[in-house]
Amino acid sequence: MVYNCLKYIRSFVYPTTCVLCGAEATRELDLCAPCRKALPLNTPCCRKCALPLPLDIPGGVCGSCLTTPPAYDLCIAPLRYQPPIDYLVRGFKFQQKLGLGKVLGELLWTELANRHLDRPELIVPVPLHPERLRQRGYNQALELSRLLSKRLQVQLDYRSCARIRTTPHQAALGKTGRVANVRGAFRLHQPLGVQHVALVDDVVTTAATVSELAAMMRRAGVEHIQVWAAARTP
Ligand SMILES: [Zn+2]
Ligand SMILES: [Zn+2]
Repeated sequence: MVYNCLKYIRSFVYPTTCVLCGAEATRELDLCAPCRKALPLNTPCCRKCALPLPLDIPGGVCGSCLTTPPAYDLCIAPLRYQPPIDYLVRGFKFQQKLGLGKVLGELLWTELANRHLDRPELIVPVPLHPERLRQRGYNQALELSRLLSKRLQVQLDYRSCARIRTTPHQAALGKTGRVANVRGAFRLHQPLGVQHVALVDDVVTTAATVSELAAMMRRAGVEHIQVWAAARTP
């Protein structure tokens, strides 16, 4: 009786149906095998900024990274921001569906685990402006960071870095506008005290935001900076 009751509570708290089609899913991921197999993987992509590329190019680095290298070392974004990833991200970000964030976080973690990258000393979520945080109630980048911090056993710091001004959505701006839009948007309250940081966001829409944050950290003495995001827009 007690066992059945616990089983019922567990299945309620951890649904085992696929978040995309409703079929039976693995408990670890909440996706069924066919939906997982059909996910839009971000390959080929720029080896530096993870920009989706139509073809694998010699050297593997996009034109933008060649002419203006970003302030971070590399960006890991295993999925492309297109259906059904856009559905997962929008639900996670704007509709309070934190369970969808768990799926994105697990997919990102799986990619990180497969890459065998140097482990950072600290995970820092891309901060939201306090006004936007009040409206949304949570920072989706922090929710992903919590999962990654737990899985990878890397310390999480969501207090040292702040977004000090709101910025219009990057997607609506050209490249020059995007860089200007985020300039001076972040501030460090205190030194991070480490040499290697991973910045985490749900989606990298333009490299300008994470590049600005990474540049600020470099000025504060951080030597190695990775960017981890579930998805990357073209
Ligand atoms: Zn499915
Ligand atoms: Zn690039």
